[in-house]
Amino acid sequence: MKLVISCMDRRLNSYLDTYVDNDTVILRNAGANVNGLKSTIRRLINDNNVSEIRLVAHTDCGAMNVVNSVLSGKITVSDSVYNSLVSQFADKKFSSRAELEQLNEKLQVELLHSMAGEIKITSELYDLNRNPVPESKGEHMLAYTRPNEYRYDELTSEIKGEMNGTYFVHSLTLDEAKPDLEIATKNLGIRDLVFVATKSEQYREMMLDMDRAKMVSEGDVHFRFVKLMR
Ligand SMILES: [Zn+2]
Repeated sequence: MKLVISCMDRRLNSYLDTYVDNDTVILRNAGANVNGLKSTIRRLINDNNVSEIRLVAHTDCGAMNVVNSVLSGKITVSDSVYNSLVSQFADKKFSSRAELEQLNEKLQVELLHSMAGEIKITSELYDLNRNPVPESKGEHMLAYTRPNEYRYDELTSEIKGEMNGTYFVHSLTLDEAKPDLEIATKNLGIRDLVFVATKSEQYREMMLDMDRAKMVSEGDVHFRFVKLMR
């Protein structure tokens, strides 16, 4: 099995579809943040024969904008967002967003090396400035799923979202996704959250996840549940 770890950014969906095959699991959160996916990554490594892990970070990253804004004192975030994402950069030096994005790729790869032993690790900083993606027609939404085998063009059509307008977060537990849902709703202004069960055995657990997420959500956020059957 191959793991791909990337950012939840909607503009990466088409590119990440090129990685989808029967043997690849994609994990995504705000910033391709390995630190926020540690328990999911450990479980996948323990339970499967993982041959390669690829980190796909990207330029013009909203999560890195949040990190930069917090560290320069412009905004504050909750303890969970700080501990999961921002804290890794608190004692590091960088002089621009571009440098911060390169630093992120480097730090997440280092963390993977410390967790993954002999597994091959590769990375890239995908350049969205050179590969721009058109703006979506409607409001942006975010879909949360467990790791699954669907392509993003299939997923977005199943949930009636737009390929270029839907952020995706994938993890094995809601706890690991909470900081990312918070960044999406508070910092990126996303109002529509879709919880997607991609297998029937996830139905109950993900309904409970959605209820838990509802209880801690603030402001005008709409929740929707979609069950896929394949
Ligand atoms: Zn990003």
